[in-house]
Amino acid sequence: MKSIHAGELRAEHIGQTVTLAGWVGRRRDHGGVAFVDLRDGSGIVQVVLNPDNEPASDDVLHGLRSEYCIQVEGEVTPRPEGTVNRDLPTGEVEVVASNLTVLSPAAALPFQLDDRSDVDESLRLKYRYLDMRRGRMAANLVARSKAIRAMRNVLDREAFLEVETPTLIASTPEGARDMLVPSRLRKGQFYALPQSPQLFKQLLMIGGVERYYQVAKCYRDEDFRADRQVEFTQLDLEGSFWGQEDVLTVLEKIAAEVVRDLRGEDIELPLPRLTWTEAMDRYGSDKPDLRFGMEIVDLSDAFADTEFKAFTGVLGDGGTVRGINAGALGLARSGLDALTTRAQELGAKGLVWMVVEEDGSLRSPVSKFLSDEERGAIVTRLDATYGDTLLIVADATKVARAVLGQLRLDLGQPTGHDELSFAFIVDFPVFDVGDDGSLSPAHHPFTAPASLEDLVNTPESAVSKAYDLVLNGSELGSGSVRIHDPAMQAKVFEVMGISDEDAESRFGWFLEALRYGTPPHAGFAFGIDRLVAILQGEPNIREIIPFPKTQTGADPLTGSPGRVDESQLEELGIEIAPAVLESWAAAEAGDTPE
Ligand code: ASP
Repeated sequence: MKSIHAGELRAEHIGQTVTLAGWVGRRRDHGGVAFVDLRDGSGIVQVVLNPDNEPASDDVLHGLRSEYCIQVEGEVTPRPEGTVNRDLPTGEVEVVASNLTVLSPAAALPFQLDDRSDVDESLRLKYRYLDMRRGRMAANLVARSKAIRAMRNVLDREAFLEVETPTLIASTPEGARDMLVPSRLRKGQFYALPQSPQLFKQLLMIGGVERYYQVAKCYRDEDFRADRQVEFTQLDLEGSFWGQEDVLTVLEKIAAEVVRDLRGEDIELPLPRLTWTEAMDRYGSDKPDLRFGMEIVDLSDAFADTEFKAFTGVLGDGGTVRGINAGALGLARSGLDALTTRAQELGAKGLVWMVVEEDGSLRSPVSKFLSDEERGAIVTRLDATYGDTLLIVADATKVARAVLGQLRLDLGQPTGHDELSFAFIVDFPVFDVGDDGSLSPAHHPFTAPASLEDLVNTPESAVSKAYDLVLNGSELGSGSVRIHDPAMQAKVFEVMGISDEDAESRFGWFLEALRYGTPPHAGFAFGIDRLVAILQGEPNIREIIPFPKTQTGADPLTGSPGRVDESQLEELGIEIAPAVLESWAAAEAGDTPE
């Protein structure tokens, strides 16, 4: 239906007769002649509809509205002097139509498809098929496709095999709630949708596939959290006879190729590697934004003999005194007090602020409680100069890291994603330690501990062979060296609080598989949505997902999740609980939202 794509037309085509097909974008009328932007998947070109050329009947020409799908035949001509549009790749030419056919008219639009108009997101999602005709969404779809192609290209060169794994499975423990699918043939039983292909990729290693990858849909039934989706896409990969460095090297190649293909930029390799402890101490986060400094500095030893009660108390309890140099904030007293309130909201008992005066002295409500030496140490350690605002937290290490880490982001994090700062975080702890000292596994239980002895004797400080890739303060994915010894796997289940019976009934089949000559192996999973969102400068992964769910897990376009027929439930042997039926009835009566 077309001889060339609209966006491909250039001066070299002048004089040619072309056939185009696409949609009517903006239309401008000048003295009886209409200028229409014809848009297709490749871009836009201006089409001139001059009634003198009779491209179509007057009725058709007048009735032509935004988003009509049309076919145009015409001659490519140079744009008249002064009307060349340098911002448009096709801006030197226009197509003077000799024939116009309406392939399909469009109803009145629910919103303008103009990129400049700001449209409510739920409306955009309800009409996603129109939303994706807009430049921004169209560009994001192209970027997503390019990113996945770049990943495949790298993995293909590295001799990876693309293998699909099932999506109706038994539960995988990735730490979230499973999405369940009822079985009709086995009433009362359920499949889980994979939180990731974790155990299948490990089975592939046992099966002799030495390099595996898959663009995998993963499902996690998480509660509302901004910028999370119940259904998302990972580049999942695994390799046998591999250790951590082998994985990180492949990830570097993937990151570099994707950035090159999407942005035309080279990133510097190798990517920096920070241990988890370093990241937490210097940036207060396991996904540090390394585009800026403002590092956290431990000042505790400068206050070993301090008279300042607030500090002695904390240090005596095994806590810490840490600070950041937030630079020349130039805040008035009220602004500094607001920072204190913010620190308290974040969980600190308080915040000490200090501003460096011209003579090098420190203006601060607590300055008088500190000795000259202590004040001097603060200035030196925080590399402070005239005008700088210094923020100090004295608290338990965990609190001081978290609060200063967040203040650092509040005060220093650049907006936008022009600059890219990738890093690997390695040597994660096996457990997250809760405020009450309780331990919860930081990774799935197939992750190898650095030392089984430490895991058993000092679980709270034990380190695992797990690593993350971060970009500009976001986690792009995580992976680990896996356990390949069934005895070690059983021990780790035990330490993780998974009882023998539970392990046997849920993962007996996996423990058995590990017994047949399992190669040492390691892998990773990359969040494709997040990577592309950051590279495209999008604040939200929904902008990168063709048909995303809302933050409450609904799809306004197709109406999922929805109720099903009574007969379908009967076939599955499922009844809706009376309390749920009542809440539906109440919602229908308009009493409460469903
Ligand atoms: N399965 C893990 C995840 O989805 C990644 C991995 O360990 O390879 O986060």
